[in-house]
Amino acid sequence: MRLVLLGAPGAGKGTQAVLLKERHNLAHISTGDIFRQNLKDNTPLGLEAKKFMDAGQLVPDEIVMKMVGAKLSEFKPGEGFMLDGFPRTVAQAEFLETQTKLDGVIMFKVPDEAIVKRLTSRAVCKNCGNVTNIHEHDKCPACGGELYRRDDDNEQTIRERLKVYHEQTESLVDFYRTRNLLLEIDATGMPDEVFTRVIETLEND
Ligand code: ADP
Ligand code: ZN
Repeated sequence: MRLVLLGAPGAGKGTQAVLLKERHNLAHISTGDIFRQNLKDNTPLGLEAKKFMDAGQLVPDEIVMKMVGAKLSEFKPGEGFMLDGFPRTVAQAEFLETQTKLDGVIMFKVPDEAIVKRLTSRAVCKNCGNVTNIHEHDKCPACGGELYRRDDDNEQTIRERLKVYHEQTESLVDFYRTRNLLLEIDATGMPDEVFTRVIETLEND
């Protein structure tokens, strides 16, 4: 199965990807994670991407498409994956059509104000990547690891990311609806509630 996870920043794509990965044995390809890993490793790609990420802007299409193209070429025909954070523009979506056939696009719907609330309180575990709430935990509840805030999870950058989402990414809803691939999910509430909706939608499709 080959899926795209679509939705605003903070809609919970990454969290649902971890759950889906266990159930359907799909690789999780997160372009944001790839950029953050490159930044950690101080690669030219990471340093270039950082300028855009810190401003809440999209990394230019050519850079992202080259990176995703290389990643997708590692997959054999029968191997499934979920794309998380890609595509984010129509140009990226058109490029993706030249690379693979998709089985579905899951659209995670959350109101903007709920997103701002989620992201301004988001903390990530340095050790295991678990996502949690900064007001509820001071250590990772899963492994005891140290928590950190993402550089782009400040209110100003969050608002900019949401603006970019509405201007550049939301049009992909129509793009995929037209292609009969869109599966819309109410992504408010707790992660396990959302996951139940995902499973019902995906498996009854
Ligand atoms: P979120 O979904 O929480 O905004 P991600 O981790 O998916 O975060 O992405 C973080 C940042 O990485 C984005 O704000 C953007 O700058 C960059 N990025 C990730 N994926 C793409 C993409 N497909 N196209 C352009 N930029 C991207
Ligand atoms: Zn942890």
